[in-house]
Amino acid sequence: MKNKKLLMIPGPSPVARSIQDQMGRETVAFGDPDFVRDFRDLLLDLRTLWKTDGEVFVVAGSGTLAMEMAIANTTKRGQRVLVVSHGFFGDRFVEICKRKGLEVVVLASEWGKAQGVAEIEKALRKNPYNVVTVTHVDTSTGVCAPVPEIGTMMKQFPATLLIVDGVCATAAEPEQVDDMGIDILFTGSQKAFGVAPGLAMLWAGQKAMKRRSELGAIPEYYADFDKWLPIMHDPSKYFATPAVNLVWALKESVRIIKEEGLEARYARHRRNAKAIQSALEAIGFSILAEEHVRAVTLSGVLYPGGIDDVRFRTTLAQEGVQVAGGLGAYAGKMFRLGHMGNIDEHDLVSVVAAIERTLAAVGRKHDIGSGVTELMKKLH
Ligand code: PMP
Repeated sequence: MKNKKLLMIPGPSPVARSIQDQMGRETVAFGDPDFVRDFRDLLLDLRTLWKTDGEVFVVAGSGTLAMEMAIANTTKRGQRVLVVSHGFFGDRFVEICKRKGLEVVVLASEWGKAQGVAEIEKALRKNPYNVVTVTHVDTSTGVCAPVPEIGTMMKQFPATLLIVDGVCATAAEPEQVDDMGIDILFTGSQKAFGVAPGLAMLWAGQKAMKRRSELGAIPEYYADFDKWLPIMHDPSKYFATPAVNLVWALKESVRIIKEEGLEARYARHRRNAKAIQSALEAIGFSILAEEHVRAVTLSGVLYPGGIDDVRFRTTLAQEGVQVAGGLGAYAGKMFRLGHMGNIDEHDLVSVVAAIERTLAAVGRKHDIGSGVTELMKKLH
């Protein structure tokens, strides 16, 4: 008999049964009064939970659409953007901004390390910028940026907007939009919300919305905040067809989040991440990100010497756990393990046990059971 498949790549993350069930509901008209009420309640919850006096947008599309929307609604050709990059997804902003004719300066860290707040402040003192982008957790490296500290520091630069990519962080790493000085935060449904891929969510504070109105007409159509605003205020209106079943699925995810409580959810992610990272270290792996900047949502797990990446990941998949490969210079040298969203202790134990079985299968000697033992010690 085959093992059950556990989806432990860093997004999409496992979808809980009650969330998945929303996808199977009979689709209704987007003007259906029950759907309109559900959508309105969802938007209200998102605004309340992530604390902004500004606006919330939920649109069909992936995280990359949200990146484009954030840039499209805050900048115009020739303006200046400082991209703080901790890896592949930080760098994605560079291409988006360049295509829009923006002047881009990149502050990039070595993979596994985070850019210091002092460095960002130095760059902002040297030259003015319209926007700074920060990837809260870069999914290529498992590095978590010090967003609260960056937000506090940036209060000295009121003319510069702070855009935070929360695709691999929101609903797992603490984020409060207005209090943290974030002007735009965005994420995708498939990561720490534990919903299927397909929705982009954005929170835009009042300063960001003011910037949007100062821009006047913008070239983008689907990505224009102004097109969506009437719908986000009254979901019975139409601009472009909402992803009805995904909206329901997200609503169920938010119900689960409220039931658990955001603070408890953040604490669970911290506890799980520490436990799984410690278990992996106990059986010979090491973690790419420096300890003080490690994400709670995923780990970049470096192989000990002598393990072939493809053989390891293929065997692990046969053992029932799907992980992702390393990106860039880390392809072949590490795997990436997601541990975000609605993941419980059964999942964690199964993952570590499957990794231990895989080590044995590829001929790497270790004290079998020692990883699971370390995990259990750290969880309790
Ligand atoms: N930013 C981050 C941090 C991501 O992890 C991803 C996706 N892995 C993206 C942006 C792009 O999102 P999507 O693949 O949903 O377009």
